[in-house]
Amino acid sequence: MTISEKVAYIKGLAEGMKIDESTNEGKITLAILGVLGDIAEELEEIDEELDELAEVLSDLEEQVEELEEEIYGEDFDDYETDGDDLYEITCRNCENTVAVDMSMLEGGTVNCPNCGEKIEFDIDFVIGDDIDDIDEIEEEKEDNKNEE
Ligand SMILES: [Zn+2]
Repeated sequence: MTISEKVAYIKGLAEGMKIDESTNEGKITLAILGVLGDIAEELEEIDEELDELAEVLSDLEEQVEELEEEIYGEDFDDYETDGDDLYEITCRNCENTVAVDMSMLEGGTVNCPNCGEKIEFDIDFVIGDDIDDIDEIEEEKEDNKNEE
């Protein structure tokens, strides 16, 4: 039984008992039943709204998945797990996680695809299996500087 059905059942009981509205007990009982009815009604509305929201969310989720497939190809999941040549960095402006590859890292900065802010690399923000490779890049950069 839903809450609305339970309230309707109690209201039916009250009617069957012929509660006397002229007594204090009758007044308070009927007032409480009225409030219970209102609560049940509002709960049902909230429930419906939540269902609608859940639908919107799952639609959005599907669209994001489709976009991911369009942008990264079907095996997007692999990017996050094997981390071969990709690194995850976090935009300090909007906290969006951006996947970058070696050539982008070598460029030094990347514009956040989410907010457009320029992301400067900080080793602490780079999460990947190949941290050693990144250290090598840093060393190479310093070597280049020394040559100049
Ligand atoms: Zn950003």
